Amino acid sequence: MRQTTPDPWAEARSRMVAEHLVARGIRQREVLDAMGRVPRERFVEPQMLERAYDDAALGIADGQTISQPYIVARMTEELDLPGWRARHVGRVPRVLDVGTGSGYQAAVLATMGAQVIGVERHASLASGAEERLRALRLPVRVGVGDGSEGWPDEAPYAAILVAAAAPDVPKPLIDQLADGGRLVVPVGTRTHQELRIVRRMGDRVEWRAVEPCVFVPLVGRYGFQPGR
Ligand code: SAH
Repeated sequence: MRQTTPDPWAEARSRMVAEHLVARGIRQREVLDAMGRVPRERFVEPQMLERAYDDAALGIADGQTISQPYIVARMTEELDLPGWRARHVGRVPRVLDVGTGSGYQAAVLATMGAQVIGVERHASLASGAEERLRALRLPVRVGVGDGSEGWPDEAPYAAILVAAAAPDVPKPLIDQLADGGRLVVPVGTRTHQELRIVRRMGDRVEWRAVEPCVFVPLVGRYGFQPGR
């Protein structure tokens, strides 16, 4: 008989799903299932362990953050991966995760069955994320570079998620979206943004803003300039 060790975080995780996600209107079953499975405690700094399932963004290395669970869920839901799958039966959606940071967002997407390509500006964060994801048997390649330019080698993407704030929607990201693909990106100033959902349909691009948010800046060619 196989012995299973009880998961000490299981209760905190299901409370997070019920109180921070379902109670605030997250409805997509695939997102709720994935966030109910990904061990967020493995993506936070050791000194933050007790706060892993708090309703908050937490500091990680290099002055960056792991996003608040609600915003991870909201952005993931807006990518509408179930809709994409329904239109492309039998195909695995390829998703670009810009600003991979701790790798938590990438883990949620990979757990939903997406083929995830990560891009992170800080090499140390990229390798840390890759390592954590590998340990969870979620193979995600995390490229090091300026994700405001996307990652053209693997384009087009069914979805692109940007976890850092841009002054405007980076044009290369729109160009790298597949037909019918969706891009979720915080747009605004360095301190305040709105979450924008961009959808590409052939040559047509439409967008809407869903809610105010606060992210660390996307630093790069189509983002903010470094060091101000
Ligand atoms: N998705 C992450 C959130 C990280 S915060 C998580 O789940 O933990 C945003 C990340 O974007 C930071 O790690 C930051 O280093 C990174 N970043 C900022 N500008 C970037 C750029 N131009 N290209 C790639 N990554 C960038």
